[in-house]
Amino acid sequence: MAVPAWAQSDTATQKAADVSANSGGSASSDVQAKPSASKDDSSAVVFMYHRFGESDYPSTNITLDQLSAHIAELEKPKYHVMDVADIVAAIADGKALPDRAIGITVDDAYRSFYSQAWPMFKKAGLPVTVFVSTSQLDDGYESYMTWDMVRDLVKQGVKIGGHSDSHAHLSSIPIADVKAELAKSAQRFKQELGFVPELFAYPYGEASSDVQQAVRDAGYKAAFGQQSGGFDKTADMFYLPRFALNEHYGSLDRFELAANSLPLDVSDVTPADYTLQRNPPAFGFTLLQPARDVQCYPSDGTATLSRLGEERVEVRLDGPVSPGRWRINCTAAGPDGRWRWLGMLYTVPKGIENPG
Ligand SMILES: [Zn+2]
Repeated sequence: MAVPAWAQSDTATQKAADVSANSGGSASSDVQAKPSASKDDSSAVVFMYHRFGESDYPSTNITLDQLSAHIAELEKPKYHVMDVADIVAAIADGKALPDRAIGITVDDAYRSFYSQAWPMFKKAGLPVTVFVSTSQLDDGYESYMTWDMVRDLVKQGVKIGGHSDSHAHLSSIPIADVKAELAKSAQRFKQELGFVPELFAYPYGEASSDVQQAVRDAGYKAAFGQQSGGFDKTADMFYLPRFALNEHYGSLDRFELAANSLPLDVSDVTPADYTLQRNPPAFGFTLLQPARDVQCYPSDGTATLSRLGEERVEVRLDGPVSPGRWRINCTAAGPDGRWRWLGMLYTVPKGIENPG
């Protein structure tokens, strides 16, 4: 059984050519280990949307037909769609979650969430958290919601998360500016909504160790990136994964595969900083569970995977990866035909390629 080619990609930024199951870019390992069956670990999958029914923006949009199909799938009894804050709290506190606990998030305060998507989610009784950059509301553009709309959503039970003030590339600006972004957005949330959110999502999914610390210091309880995968108590609570959904990667097949996925539990991920200091990165991790058929698919570059003993996986690239965002998705066969999934997203500054 192989992961379908479309399952290996996770965002609009990834080129289809990079994700073919047969491409030279993939790396695999066939070390046989005991099948994992760790049903005692509570885990969750969180999805991320942006725009709804705005087909001029296919890389951040989902069609209303696609959304209807997702909602119909989530209404099946095997799924347990929960408030993202409750999922995060349960995992942080070591409390049990139902199998297939699912969270729904929406980044940016696009008006199409208010006008198109929320009525559909609400009718289905599905809770949603919206991550808002406060300037997106303050600037008054018509494609974004107004503060009145956000207040109306809050009254109806929609949860609000932080997303910086100006939607900056946080790992690319001075840390003092990151702190100012967080302070300004907290102040605006307090003025307009009367509270400061407890969950954060990094704009563009871009983080670094310094940015993570600033978000922690600002009082947030957890933060999400934009890398694929489910998560459990072994996850970095300030870089939790989400599966991105858009017109290209919004098919029901991919949605089902993601909704049924399990985390691939690892530790000692390198590089440890999600903004690269050297390029190509020396990517690797230590498996915390036996895992069969580990395969890794980089969004850019050709990778060679090797297993050091049963637990350590090292992936080497044949050369520097392109500046911008670099993703690598690793999968392994899990129990009951489900996939274990580890996605990583690294910000790649320009000019850090290793000489020679
Ligand atoms: Zn955003």
